[in-house]
Amino acid sequence: MAKMKLKKNDLVIVKAGKDRGKTGKVLKVDPETNRVIVEKVNFVKQFVRADRGKNIQGGVMEKEAGLDASNLMIYCEECGQGVRIRTKILEDGSRMRVCSKCESVLEKPK
Ligand SMILES: [Zn+2]
Repeated sequence: MAKMKLKKNDLVIVKAGKDRGKTGKVLKVDPETNRVIVEKVNFVKQFVRADRGKNIQGGVMEKEAGLDASNLMIYCEECGQGVRIRTKILEDGSRMRVCSKCESVLEKPK
């Protein structure tokens, strides 16, 4: 299995499926299943049963379902498309992930 390249807070674009072309922020990655939860992408309806004891209102809830990491690409705002990333090593030795096309930084150092 390919190593998971996506990280939380990455901006990604969907390359396949019904949400193709949508972009969003990665909320969660699961390296075990290779599933990625992307903000506001791949919503699924979930039926929730009312539970008065827990004060849960029944009904339909929309929730992001995971997408397979292979259907996602890092999205570069400069290029306006899904791009490959590469790691740039700075003079001080720290690593930064940059767009392989325009070299804009896709991950700001913390
Ligand atoms: Zn770019």
